[in-house]
Amino acid sequence: MGKSAGIPRDEARSAGGQYRRGVGFVHPKAWQVLLGVGLLLTVVYVALPYGLAASSLYVIATTGAAVGVGMVLLQHPRPRAATAWALVTVALALAATGHAIWYWLDLHGLEPFPSVADIFYLSVYPLFAVALWRLGAQTARDDGALVDALIVGISAAVLGWALLIAPYTYDPDLTWLQLLVSAGYPVADLILLPLVLRLVFLHRTRITAHGFLLLGMLAYLAADLLYAHGNSTGWYTAGGLTDAFWLIAYSLIVAAAWHPSAKMEPRAHTSPAELSGRRLLMLGAASVLVPMVILFTADTGMEIIRVAAIASILLFLLVLYRMAGLLRETQNQARRLEHLSHTDPLTGASNRRHLEEQLAREIARAERNQGPLTLAFLDVDHFKRFNDTHGHAAGDALLQEMVDAWRPLLRPTDLLARFGGEEFVVVLPHVDAQQSRLVLERLRAVMPCSQTCSAGIASFRPGDTTDSLLGRADQALYAAKNSGRDRIILASTDSLPDPNLPTPEGNH
Ligand code: GH3
Ligand code: MG
Ligand code: MG
Repeated sequence: MGKSAGIPRDEARSAGGQYRRGVGFVHPKAWQVLLGVGLLLTVVYVALPYGLAASSLYVIATTGAAVGVGMVLLQHPRPRAATAWALVTVALALAATGHAIWYWLDLHGLEPFPSVADIFYLSVYPLFAVALWRLGAQTARDDGALVDALIVGISAAVLGWALLIAPYTYDPDLTWLQLLVSAGYPVADLILLPLVLRLVFLHRTRITAHGFLLLGMLAYLAADLLYAHGNSTGWYTAGGLTDAFWLIAYSLIVAAAWHPSAKMEPRAHTSPAELSGRRLLMLGAASVLVPMVILFTADTGMEIIRVAAIASILLFLLVLYRMAGLLRETQNQARRLEHLSHTDPLTGASNRRHLEEQLAREIARAERNQGPLTLAFLDVDHFKRFNDTHGHAAGDALLQEMVDAWRPLLRPTDLLARFGGEEFVVVLPHVDAQQSRLVLERLRAVMPCSQTCSAGIASFRPGDTTDSLLGRADQALYAAKNSGRDRIILASTDSLPDPNLPTPEGNH
């Protein structure tokens, strides 16, 4: 056992490959045979007159279900699933024992309630609950599935309770223990329902095995509700349709365990922000169901209204929580998207669009404050030659290294943008032409791979637009290239009559 711990991830994507691989020594269609046998036994059980033969058949069928699920463990399921199916096996064995005790008591005319059988029956639920949780608990990102399952589960619980249980549980003849045990079954079912719904909601692509589990749990729920109802109103008799629902439930659980899709690695494919139209419709329907229960049972009893009101509050909080998750995820995505739309994918510098937006803002600010604002165009010298010599990938790497080397030399308020190709723009707010020359020299000093670059600097003048400012810096860059490269040139009108400053013709 335990040699193959599950299915490789990529294989899990293709259901066909998945199913073939997961079978082990068992025929992939075995689940159909087992389901057929289970349903056939159910029909025979209902058809047989109630007595020793029928009750023996029932106990044997349930034991067979336990053995059937247990045999799945011989097929090397993934470890988490192995624990889950082992728990289901034990649960079914306990149910079979409970049935044996119950039938023995019933056939001997003893009908104590609650009885030892109830201990066995009730211990089935926590095992089922843990098994269902383990079958799906693979990812941390399943909160959407769990919350959705709770919303549907709570509303189903209130509906089932209001229609089938509440009108009958207040039988004054019942002792508190009898009340507790008889209410215990449907309540336990209603705890299982969200757990199995979560499994189903967890996957975008349906896992058939989990669909069978859902049907099985619904059959179990139906049997328990019918039993609770039939028991309190007196119409329940053993050997009838109510029992058939339990057998159907066991058959479906065996089919789920044997279905090849049970081997699929349950992974949440959906992000919490995803909510299909169908799911939304279901959540909406589930949420309005409970207030409708209040509406239609308002004149029958305070108890129902109280429970439904509490459930409404819970549903409201769950919906809010779900919305908060969706909102958080949407905001994160919006932030990521905004960052992407501003960024040059190769270097991580700002892109041209962001440059134009920010520059327009800086120009407006400089216009208002009459403060300095400087802009520089930088261009790698003979980059074509570098590419030709070292290859395009090395050229890309050079651009990345340049940006990485420049970034620490700039202030957070400065903007470094890739204008295109090997041309960059640096916007330096609150910096005048002379200071910007120093900044540019520092940038040039850290050029990687002994490459050089040329720069043209232009300072803001009142009335400047983004185009005019960029245009003057570009002209200065052009002048720097023309005068031999590897130098900085200030746009002519920016240079001041300071003898220490270089002339527009260049300084190198
Ligand atoms: P100059 O000194 O006059 O600027 O010469 P240069 O070779 O740098 O300029 P030119 O405009 O002739 O060539 C620019 C080269 O930059 C040509 C193009 O293949 C290269 N280039 C543009 N974008 C990229 C890029 O993203 N990655 C790489 N590796 N090369 C690029
Ligand atoms: Mg160049
Ligand atoms: Mg160029």
